[in-house]
Amino acid sequence: MSYLRKIEYTIIPEESFKILRNCSGCGCKTAFHNTNSFRVNANGNKIDVWLIYQCIKCKHTNNLTVYERCRPESLVKEEYKGYLRNSSKLAFGYGTDSQFFARNRVEVDWSNIKYIINRKNDMLVETDQFFHEGDLLVVNNSYALKVRIDKVVSEILNLTRSGVKGLEKAGIIVVSEEKQEHKINIEIKGEL
Ligand SMILES: [Zn+2]
Repeated sequence: MSYLRKIEYTIIPEESFKILRNCSGCGCKTAFHNTNSFRVNANGNKIDVWLIYQCIKCKHTNNLTVYERCRPESLVKEEYKGYLRNSSKLAFGYGTDSQFFARNRVEVDWSNIKYIINRKNDMLVETDQFFHEGDLLVVNNSYALKVRIDKVVSEILNLTRSGVKGLEKAGIIVVSEEKQEHKINIEIKGEL
């Protein structure tokens, strides 16, 4: 693949993911949100850390395990302090980490996750805002959000979804997905 310019984007969630699980308060499956609060329990020489989730309907709480029966010396000191002061950065990190949810065997509510698309090479924005033949746009969906590809493409190209479809049909843009790498490629094959 030869291209003249490579412009990278990153899809970033704006908020922690919600999770779906049975709520003993509601007696049914509901959504729980991240409270951004950690619970730290030191038991002898073992430490447990949880991130607290809360049912959006009845406020029943549910703890997800961050560390279980962990030796204090194996925790990074700064991180440990972060749990104690409920660091929002740490809470957001776990709250958007699919593997954290997988480890806790909980289901993520992938619907309606608000996200922003950041353009990496900001230098280019000032010199040339427009896309040209030979450009390759790479969209990194590092958080593996379930996004609609045509929606992402239309946002980046600042076109309607039907406009994007028309360009694809005419071969002016070629959109492809690298599922394993969570990447979307948009090749610009002609003048937009
Ligand atoms: Zn509930």
